Amino acid sequence: MAEIQGIRRIALVAHDNCKASLVQWVIRHMELLQDRELVCTGTTGRLVRKAFENALGEAAASVKMEILKSGPLGGDQQLGARITEGKIDMLIFFWDPMQAQPHDVDVKALLRIASLYDIPAACNAMTADFLIASPLFLNPPQTSPCDFSSYTERTL
Ligand code: PGA
Repeated sequence: MAEIQGIRRIALVAHDNCKASLVQWVIRHMELLQDRELVCTGTTGRLVRKAFENALGEAAASVKMEILKSGPLGGDQQLGARITEGKIDMLIFFWDPMQAQPHDVDVKALLRIASLYDIPAACNAMTADFLIASPLFLNPPQTSPCDFSSYTERTL
């Protein structure tokens, strides 16, 4: 099987009012997404898997998808941990700008960690379209990992 080119491990998360929009985005980009490794929070993951099953039938079983805990039950934190471990290449996170979330601190933490680790991140469908249409999606810059040495080696 040919090696996957470019961004490989993609995190998908959407708050309830934004899930339909994320599923539509997945359907629009299914051809590119179906051979990536998708990591999703619980409920988002179930809906994304259903979208693949509806579109691909039995072939959906070959889509690599890891489904974590539901966001409010710790899924956002699991994703944040994956990012710190260098296991996520891109974050698609449709958070709801119109409704407070019980796990707001986790949402903020995930966005902070994505920013800190320089992960391409999209919070709405238009930005997600830009990311996946970018030439960098298939040929991402080979930058060195984030260098935090000035922080970790600071003298106190
Ligand atoms: P969910 O979590 O996919 O389990 O709904 C998303 C979130 O609220 O972060």
